[in-house]
Amino acid sequence: MKTFECKNIGMNCGFKTTANTEDEMLAKIAEHAKTVHHMDKIDDETMAKVREAIKDE
Ligand SMILES: [Zn+2]
Repeated sequence: MKTFECKNIGMNCGFKTTANTEDEMLAKIAEHAKTVHHMDKIDDETMAKVREAIKDE
């Protein structure tokens, strides 16, 4: 199980999500980034932080 918390990439945001695969996780994060943070596309720098912040539990 993978977990991700938005605050771990420096966002002032309480969003937390889980997924079984990295692809599923990145899809959920992209959707969240778009709807909540108004990022139509996650830039490379943010994506690098996102990948680091995804934890396996
Ligand atoms: Zn967020």
